[in-house]
Amino acid sequence: MTVKTRFAPSPTGFLHVGGARTALYSWLFAKHMGGEFVLRIEDTDLERSTQEAIDAILEGMEWLGMDWDEGPYYQTKRFDRYNQLVDQLLAEDKAYKCYCPKALLDELREEQMAAGVKPRYDANHPKIVAANAAATEDSAFCIRFRNPKEGTVVFEDKVRGRIEIANSELDDLIIRRTDGSPTYNFCVVIDDWDMGITQVVRGEDHINNTPRQINIYEALGAPVPEFAHCAMILGDDGAKLSKRHGAVSVMQYRDEGYLPQALLNYLIRLGWSHGDQEIFSMEEMINLFSLESISKSASAFNTDKLLWLNNHYIKTAEPEYVAKYLQWHLDQKEIDTANGPKITDVIGLVGERCNTLIELADQSRYFYQDFSEFEAGAAKKHLRPVAKDALALVLSKVEALEDWNTENLHAVIADTCTELEVGMGKVGMPLRVAVTGQGQSPSVDATMMLIGKERVVNRITMALAFIAEREANA
Ligand code: GLU
Repeated sequence: MTVKTRFAPSPTGFLHVGGARTALYSWLFAKHMGGEFVLRIEDTDLERSTQEAIDAILEGMEWLGMDWDEGPYYQTKRFDRYNQLVDQLLAEDKAYKCYCPKALLDELREEQMAAGVKPRYDANHPKIVAANAAATEDSAFCIRFRNPKEGTVVFEDKVRGRIEIANSELDDLIIRRTDGSPTYNFCVVIDDWDMGITQVVRGEDHINNTPRQINIYEALGAPVPEFAHCAMILGDDGAKLSKRHGAVSVMQYRDEGYLPQALLNYLIRLGWSHGDQEIFSMEEMINLFSLESISKSASAFNTDKLLWLNNHYIKTAEPEYVAKYLQWHLDQKEIDTANGPKITDVIGLVGERCNTLIELADQSRYFYQDFSEFEAGAAKKHLRPVAKDALALVLSKVEALEDWNTENLHAVIADTCTELEVGMGKVGMPLRVAVTGQGQSPSVDATMMLIGKERVVNRITMALAFIAEREANA
């Protein structure tokens, strides 16, 4: 049987970290098994579902590179199918009309709570029996599933192991509301059945729904899929992860300068392990993933680790891959790269120093944009009269340089030091501030190489003018 998994978000908000992790596990399992992955939008809650949220979820999935083989399916387009099966269950007496008004249900629930018992619908309660007997043709009704009264529901959760619930714990759940709309627990079963889902991977918050859903599969004569319920994600303070912990929307991680590969690698380890391996290529993720190795206990979010992984991928991923995502940040910062070195070369030089693509974009700026001022602190410290001779000599040498390469630029600096009988720092630091406008950069010869001759010449000239003005004002 072909493995088929799905991700089934309710479009009531953006794609958050928890949802993305569920999607990833589901997607990886399908890939690992050579199966298929379905995206299904569970939009039956018409009041809370929005097109904006649907778009945000699709955008997040695409940015993370989790492609789907089928879908997106929309539950709102499948109401006929749900109704057809509600009618079938009614005809088979596996479901029934319930005329009990909401006010009575509320009253009974309060009584149960006051008595300290778990609130549940009891079809045999005398008041409910009476309400149903009093119903007329025009009375409003919902449809309830006739849950078995005896026995237990047992399933082997791939993460949590054997789970057993007595049917006496479950009540007759509503499968179609008074307004005619089908409910989550019903739609999800019909969808997973119709779509041929073999493994349901989802959050632990759904574990209580699973026995109810299994009873519905059985009433329909449908095969029951396997289930894997993933534990919660906590913030670094141990509380359930929420907006309070900073970025929780996947797209916010893009905005903050993370690479999708870093986030995926982070997410796979957030509740799944393979020994103590921390870094996983996409290929390794797919090859090594298994549902059984998903952790039973909650995992805590750790931003430092995510940053560390991001730095790792900025340093080691193919520069073309980094460039694809860096470009978005360069555009945000209006850094036009048409006139300057290849972005991949800049990434190769500057990347290892950066934890985020925002830092990388900032550190790319001086390769493409001229500046009219030097960073004040760096200029004060390094663009001093003593640097004048060194900069002037470097300038004359670079102007005369025919082959613009790192080796020759290295020689320019070394020769300047020798000729002036000064140490490397006395030449390198003023030169760095002159050509980059700031006090920090990768090695200055390689940096000059990428900045290019014309800009280097202009900037050293500008630095010399800055020093002259400083002398004049002294
Ligand atoms: N739509 C549900 C949710 O977003 C998920 C249902 C499921 O995975 O079974 O929580």
